[in-house]
Amino acid sequence: MREAFKKIGLYWQPLGGNNPDQISGHCYRYTDIRSAGKNGQKSSTSLLVDLGKFDNYKALGVKNAAAAVPDIRDILADKKNAPGALLLTHSHPDHLNGIPHYIKAGYTLPPVYGGKYTLMILYDLLTEFNIPRRLWPKFNVIKNGDKLKLGTLNIEVVPASHTCFDSFGFIISSADTCVYHTGDMKIDQAACFRKPTDLKRLQELAAKIDYVVVDFYGISSDGFAVSEITTYLRLVSLIKESKKNKIFLPVYPTHPEMYLIAFMAALKCKKNVVFYGNVDFFGYLKLLSEYGISFEKMAKDRIKVSYSHDTEALLPLENNYVVIGTFNDVPDVFDADRKNAFGIITASTFFNPLKGQFNLHNIKFVTVDDYPELQGYGHAFWGDIEKLNQTLAQRPCFIPTHCPIFMIDDVRNLADFCKVRLIDKTPRNNQIFRLEKNKAQLVSERPAKWLTVVYNSPDSAYFVEVLQQPTSGKGFLKRTISQRRSQRKFKAYMLKRKRNG
Ligand SMILES: [Zn+2]
Repeated sequence: MREAFKKIGLYWQPLGGNNPDQISGHCYRYTDIRSAGKNGQKSSTSLLVDLGKFDNYKALGVKNAAAAVPDIRDILADKKNAPGALLLTHSHPDHLNGIPHYIKAGYTLPPVYGGKYTLMILYDLLTEFNIPRRLWPKFNVIKNGDKLKLGTLNIEVVPASHTCFDSFGFIISSADTCVYHTGDMKIDQAACFRKPTDLKRLQELAAKIDYVVVDFYGISSDGFAVSEITTYLRLVSLIKESKKNKIFLPVYPTHPEMYLIAFMAALKCKKNVVFYGNVDFFGYLKLLSEYGISFEKMAKDRIKVSYSHDTEALLPLENNYVVIGTFNDVPDVFDADRKNAFGIITASTFFNPLKGQFNLHNIKFVTVDDYPELQGYGHAFWGDIEKLNQTLAQRPCFIPTHCPIFMIDDVRNLADFCKVRLIDKTPRNNQIFRLEKNKAQLVSERPAKWLTVVYNSPDSAYFVEVLQQPTSGKGFLKRTISQRRSQRKFKAYMLKRKRNG
């Protein structure tokens, strides 16, 4: 690894964000090499951003594997360039859940830096894994606008519009260049209950930012990711138009902002709310209240809120309510049928069994296939990237991540047309780039690996390495983004833009 860092400069290395075909297992490393002292000595400052788990581990074919994580063993073992911090962009498992497995496999992790909500989730995660406190990394709470100094690097925390609280991007500055690492984000300025992506601050930094390591999720018809307000308005109109008393509104478990959007839609329609879901769902709901969100306060006596669906708990709701939660069944207690009930499914695949339940009870429902805006994505689509490019005065070089690498190759024509400058060489996991002021130079490439995690006992795990390879059609994540479909979309969008001048 060390031979990659021969020259002075800032180096960037994706370890699990630029995969052959899946979007999972995120982890990135930054290393800054500077001269120190007279004898040609050099200083080294390293940090990691995120340490997620790779969801499709079953497709890797390792017997008894419980998970898979990016391979950062060499990085942790390299004392000379050891990372001094693990910055956490947000709390989603594909960015966070590698942490307990590394600790279980006997590794010591650098201090973690994350938002209040992110660290609440991490606290629960490490507790759930029964990890003794002496093995936990040091927790540092950060918030929007914070400025940190780590060795020769300066880091500014900027807010990101994403589907959970305290989602951040990081402005990472070295002596000669500056990178905006967006984390999962979209431009959406109408994000609920938290600060959206801060375009004003980014504009102030435009003259300084040379690179954007950007979340890239493909393309939508108008280019942009769905705004939260669009999702909210669609929910309100669907509830109203249904003219039904009982609305079933399942939400994706790890997207708490959807719990709030669904609640606000119920409130707008003057419908009481029943929270109903699995253990995980109530866990997240508890976290929301510990975080400081009160549904009772929001309700202000205008509607009633129930956390139980017992017959007795339902009585005061007078058969007029929205059932919000992660549920794949419709219990008889709701007494729901075609005449009194309606379903709104806000995520694909996760709620497939619920569709059968609705049919069984003869309940009409709509899904994200009918109204794609119900899904409420939190990622940067091409329009978001273009907006970012404008905000940053068309200066920076964009390094797309969080997407299958073929999407980067396939979007190049569109990028040229839109005057978005992309990194010359499509980055793959485990490559190392030296980020010069005007050019990202590939300085090292070795095959990337996933480490599957096998547990000897609940307290001890070991890693089995597997070369990273396409896993579509195998394991849990059968469907990934289809290359042909995304190519078609890029082409169609470019034609549309050309027609519109
Ligand atoms: Zn995320």
